[in-house]
Amino acid sequence: MAIATVNPATGETVRTFEELGEAELEQKIALADERWRTYRTTGFEERAACMYAAADLFEKEADLAAELMSTEMGKTLAAARNEALKCAHGMRYYAEHAAGFLADEPLADPSRVGATRALGRYQPLGPVLAVMPWNFPMWQVMRFAAPALMAGNVGLLKHASNVPQCALYLESVFLRAGFPEGCFQTLLVSSRRVESILRDPRVVAATLTGSEPAGRSVAAICGDEVKHTVLELGGSDPFVVMPSADLERAAATAVDARVQNNGQSCIAAKRFIVHTDVYDAFTEKFVSRMRDLRVGDPFEASTDVGPVATEQGRADIEELVADAVAAGASVLCGGRRLDGPGWFYPPTVIADITPGMRIYLEEVFGPVASLYRAADIDHALEMANATDFGLGSNAWTNDEAEQERFIADLEAGQVFINGKTVSYPELPFGGIKRSGYGRELAAHGIREFCNLKTVWIG
Ligand code: NDP
Repeated sequence: MAIATVNPATGETVRTFEELGEAELEQKIALADERWRTYRTTGFEERAACMYAAADLFEKEADLAAELMSTEMGKTLAAARNEALKCAHGMRYYAEHAAGFLADEPLADPSRVGATRALGRYQPLGPVLAVMPWNFPMWQVMRFAAPALMAGNVGLLKHASNVPQCALYLESVFLRAGFPEGCFQTLLVSSRRVESILRDPRVVAATLTGSEPAGRSVAAICGDEVKHTVLELGGSDPFVVMPSADLERAAATAVDARVQNNGQSCIAAKRFIVHTDVYDAFTEKFVSRMRDLRVGDPFEASTDVGPVATEQGRADIEELVADAVAAGASVLCGGRRLDGPGWFYPPTVIADITPGMRIYLEEVFGPVASLYRAADIDHALEMANATDFGLGSNAWTNDEAEQERFIADLEAGQVFINGKTVSYPELPFGGIKRSGYGRELAAHGIREFCNLKTVWIG
C-alpha cells in the first residue's frame, strides 16, 4: 500500500509520501540506538517534565490533531478530539505513576536467600519497534509510547500506511516537548520493510496492534530472533443481555459499543447475545436506535457514523454480510452500501445467524451487529466463547450470581458488567486466544518492555 493520506469520506488522495530510503532508515535506527545509551540514564523527573509538556501540547493542539485523524481515517471530529484529549490523559498518567510502577521491589527478608539485600529492579530494554494501526491513530501509539518513554526506552513507530500525517505529528509532539532527538521517531516504511527492522540487533523488542496475519508475522520473526513481543490483535467481543438488565440502557450502550469509531474498534461489541425472554424487546430498541443514526461527513457536528477507513475495509464488510444473507440470515436494518463518493456503510443489524456463516466466526470491522438468541446463561456463554478471539467482553445483568458467572467463564482479557469495554490508562488492556498476548496500560503495560533484574548483594 502506498504511504498516503486518502480521505475516506471522498475517496480523494490528499497527499502522498516518499518511503524512507535504506540509508535514511539506517540513520534513524543508529540514532535510536545512540540516543538510548544516554536517555536510559535520565531520571523519572526529567522524563516526566517532557511527558507533561507533550501532554500540554496535545491538549492545546487537540483540534489540529483531530483534523488530521478525521481526514486520514474518517472518524468523527468529536471522537477524534476525544482521542487527542485521551492521549494527554494517558501521558500525564504515566508521567505521574512511572516512578512508582518501576520502583525497586526489595525482598522483605533477604537473609532467606543468604543476602544482606535482595531486590528486583526494572530497567529499560532499548529501542522498541511499534507497528500500529490506523483505527485509533494517536491513542494506540500513545498506549505504547507514554509508558515506553517513561521507562527509559526509545520508540520507533511504523504506523499504518494510510495515516502518515498522524505519524509525523506524533513525532513532532515528542520533539517539541523536549524529548531528545531520537527518543521517538516515525519510520515511513511499508510493512515489507518490517522484517529487516525486527532482525536488526539494535531493535530489541516489538509491539503490534493490528490484524492476526500481521501479528503472526511479527511474532514469528521475533520468535526467531528471541525478542519480546506484545500483540493486540482483533476481537469479536460478545455483549450479553440477560432478563434482569436495564434494557433501555443496555440498548443505548450496545449501539455506542458497536458503532464507536465507525464500527472499527478491536474492542467494539460485535456479537449481541440476548436472552430469549428479552430478545424481542431488546431487538426493537436496538434496531430502532441503529436505524436512527446519521451517517455522513465526519466533519459535520450532526454525524454519528462516518465512512469506513479504506475501500478494502468496506469490501470486506460487504463480503461478510453477503455470505450471511446468501445462507439465510435476516437484515433488520442497513445492509447495503450508501450511494455516492466515499466508503460509507450504514449501521446494520443481522439476525438468524447460523454457525456455518463466516460472520459467526470472523470479526466484522465496521458498523455491523450480529444478533443471537440465547435460551439461558449456559447457552449465552457457549455462544459468547464460540470464537477464536478473546479480547473484551460485556455482560448486562443485575443478578449478582450471574455477574460472577460471567466474570468467571467469559473467555476474554477483559469483562465489563453493565457497561461497554473501554481502554483506560488505569486498567490493564489485552487479550487471550487469537486476540494476542501481553498487556498494555496500567502498571503491567510499563513493565512489559523492562528488564526485571534480580539484584543480590551478599
Ligand atoms: P493490518 O494488520 O494489516 O495493519 C496494522 C499495522 O500492521 C499497519 O501498520 C500495517 O502496515 C502493519 N502490517 C500489515 N501487515 C504486516 C506484516 N505482515 N508485517 C508487519 N507489519 C504489518 O490491519 P488492516 O489495516 O489491514 O486491517 C485489517 C484487519 O485487521 C481489520 O479488518 C481488523 O480485523 C484488524 N485490525 C485490528 C485492529 C485492532 O485494533 N486490533 C486495528 C486495525 C486492524 P501497512 O499499513 O503499511 O500495511
